Amino acid sequence: MDQIIDRAIEQNPHSSNLLKAFGPILTRQRLLSASILIPKMDYSSIDKEKLRAGVSLIQQMSLFSPDDPLNEIALSMTSAVKEGMPKLSVEMDRLSELIQKGKLRLAEYFEEKSGGENKTAEHWGDDLKVSPSNASFLLSLTARVLLEHRAREATKALGGFTWEKGYCPVCGEFPSIALIEEEGGKRFLHCSSCGRDWRFTRVVCPYCEKEAQQEMDYFYNENKTQESAFVCGQCNKYLVTLYRAGRLHARDMDISAISLVHLDMIMQEKGYEPMVTCAWNVLK
Ligand SMILES: [Zn+2]
Ligand SMILES: [Zn+2]
Repeated sequence: MDQIIDRAIEQNPHSSNLLKAFGPILTRQRLLSASILIPKMDYSSIDKEKLRAGVSLIQQMSLFSPDDPLNEIALSMTSAVKEGMPKLSVEMDRLSELIQKGKLRLAEYFEEKSGGENKTAEHWGDDLKVSPSNASFLLSLTARVLLEHRAREATKALGGFTWEKGYCPVCGEFPSIALIEEEGGKRFLHCSSCGRDWRFTRVVCPYCEKEAQQEMDYFYNENKTQESAFVCGQCNKYLVTLYRAGRLHARDMDISAISLVHLDMIMQEKGYEPMVTCAWNVLK
């Protein structure tokens, strides 16, 4: 992971601060999702016909368990955030203290998360005097560790299934980045909320499903032909896209997304919006 980040910094010096800030966070997340003991889930209730119709896993069952080691993950993530973003140290220490004293009950948030709306983090802001945005940030980092683990586990348990939507089959989020493979030209979308990649047709907007005619709207970075962004005139969204850039599995797509933040800047200046909000692409 460190090598991948170092190489990304070398190739994208303009994103080096961002990569250095997120590097320790991504490294810790990968480590935790692979190594920490997370309760096994039963995916036998998942209906593949529903998947085919576009009902994601998280809409079919809860992907969080009451026995998930939430505190352990969150506390570990606060130290990774401090490493990459020293400016947030005081706030991360405060959050750690609240978690350790049992005043900030993460499970409440994850129970609500299935309901969609995230009100808990706002309450915490009032009651516990922590910045709601920093609390949400920590929660989303914690959720990613669990979702990444469950995405892998579910893929193994379910085997293959048909998925034809522009949002993630596991967690339902829209993609943060796409890659069009060099050979064959298949487009893969990547979800930064759970780490899942899935194939999606190239002639449809992943966000609003508008069919693109031949005038497939791609914006290209003049000097770097592999860097582009898909743009949709109907929903006004863009999707940063690595164009004919080798193979999907040869890359870390989250690092690539952070490396290409200059494209986010260009597209947002042009008045387009990202398909999903990530910690690194909120530029205004
Ligand atoms: Zn996902
Ligand atoms: Zn669209």
